[in-house]
Amino acid sequence: MSIGTANSTPAIAVRDLHKSFGKNEVLTGIDFHVDQGEVVCVIGPSGSGKSTLLRCVNRLEEPTSGTILIEGVDITDPETDLAAVRTRIGIVFQQFNLFPHLTVLRNLTLAQRRVKGRSKAEAEEVARRNLEKVGMAGRESAYPAQLSGGQQQRIAIARALSMDPDMMLFDEPTSALDPELVGDVLEVMRTLANEGMTMMVVTHEMGFAREVGDRLVFMDGGVVVEQGDPVEVLSNPQETRTRGFLSKVL
Ligand code: ADP
Ligand code: MG
Repeated sequence: MSIGTANSTPAIAVRDLHKSFGKNEVLTGIDFHVDQGEVVCVIGPSGSGKSTLLRCVNRLEEPTSGTILIEGVDITDPETDLAAVRTRIGIVFQQFNLFPHLTVLRNLTLAQRRVKGRSKAEAEEVARRNLEKVGMAGRESAYPAQLSGGQQQRIAIARALSMDPDMMLFDEPTSALDPELVGDVLEVMRTLANEGMTMMVVTHEMGFAREVGDRLVFMDGGVVVEQGDPVEVLSNPQETRTRGFLSKVL
């Protein structure tokens, strides 16, 4: 596989991706890419395959067929060192998935030490820097249950960032939050985007998609139905299915 020059190689390139669960084909030929430094928001009805696509990008799901290139490396190739590729991809889920029995600081240092082999001091320094970034400095010794959902999600983002990923995938990161806690999480994501982080964001937050997204992708029935500039797609959708979906959520 050609590596190409750093900036011309997409961060994520998905070609003709199919994924079935038993007889249920949920991705029916997805072509999708995220360029380096790009923020791509993915919207679509429940069950349209958004999470499955995101999970395939990290091979949390095994694709049935098709190709997935991460920075030019084919992760569907059995020869590929999947663990190495995964360290470049940070993922944040709807449920924050923090380790409940560990303090915030330990949540942020554990994988750094185990996977990156960092010393305790180095891992803690990186952790503190990222806690600062998400507005959670000073909460190092708290346990997840002592924090609000929005705070836990910001910790989960800081934990992912502490692995120095090249790109971040978000799967409905604010959907489990009380409405008043959504803004703080989106603000952290907006800061990341402004710093040039490559991001794939599955979301129902149309305001975020419009203001922060470089491109908006609408999925339905396991395919990409329409994509383009978020303002264009949201204000002037070309496809009937996109119009139908937007009329329900906007
Ligand atoms: P979305 O994130 O857009 O709501 P999903 O990707 O979660 O959609 O799901 C797409 C379809 O795949 C749904 O019909 C769902 O039931 C099915 N599906 C997802 N994960 C699994 C799984 N692990 N086993 C079987 N079916 C699944
Ligand atoms: Mg989903």
